[in-house]
Amino acid sequence: MKILSIHAHFDDFEFVGLGTFELFRQKHGDCCEMKAIICTDGKAGHHLRSREETGAIRLKEQAQSAKLGDFEFELLTLPDGTSPREGALQTDSNLLAALWKTIREFEPDYLFCPPIITDPLLGIHNDHQVVAEAVRKIAYMINVPHCFTPEYPDQELQSKWIKTPVIINYFDEYQKGSITYDFAIDIESVFDLIVACSYCHSSQIKEWLPWVGAHDLKVPADEADWHSTLNDKYFSRSQKLDLIPEKLLEAFTLTSWGNVPTFEQLLEDFPKAIIFNKNEQALKEKLDSWRQ
Ligand SMILES: [Zn+2]
Repeated sequence: MKILSIHAHFDDFEFVGLGTFELFRQKHGDCCEMKAIICTDGKAGHHLRSREETGAIRLKEQAQSAKLGDFEFELLTLPDGTSPREGALQTDSNLLAALWKTIREFEPDYLFCPPIITDPLLGIHNDHQVVAEAVRKIAYMINVPHCFTPEYPDQELQSKWIKTPVIINYFDEYQKGSITYDFAIDIESVFDLIVACSYCHSSQIKEWLPWVGAHDLKVPADEADWHSTLNDKYFSRSQKLDLIPEKLLEAFTLTSWGNVPTFEQLLEDFPKAIIFNKNEQALKEKLDSWRQ
């Protein structure tokens, strides 16, 4: 079992997917490989530090979190050897080529990424939206071996058949309006790990996010204080999604961008703590119609 997260920034994964990934590992044991790809260099998001300093700190914080959470992470590298700039991500051939190569190399069973926000009245975070659009655009090309050999000539002789993953959208904190989801995972049993890993991103949670006024965060005094803040944040997320408000959950929506699983396959692969949307029958019908 290989599960892959693709998101825009250092720290995104911890807030939307880490709990579910950990529960995947607990279910599948040593057979489970998990990796997080971060698509931007992290240099833009600070009000006091220089771009170089911010990027270096963010990378170090992500490494600390990955060590604690025991997951592999990779800062996406473009064909020219650089990483995409935060805040300026574009769905161009360089980004698509880089995603194509890194997905083919890992060959995940399940790939998680942010959702595409389609309502033009709703605000977006550019980098989140571009990652979502890029994953959608690259999905079919994952198993097209020569698609990006102009960017990666060494792939010319590697016409390997690559399994296309099931692609699932994360809940996105920047998404406003009514939000639908297909299922959630009760991550309470691993919440302490989420707290510890996300607390590694101190330049975000103690400095940048409170300063920019994002997500109504106050500066946590210590990890216990952060535990309480994050607990409240997850409860309010459950309320926003009309989920069970007293539970700590991560929510997901299936796409037909890649392979489409059966309902039974989801039950077999996903952690036992899965909670389906009230309209479970609609999900079964949606999957069946996509598989025809
Ligand atoms: Zn982000």
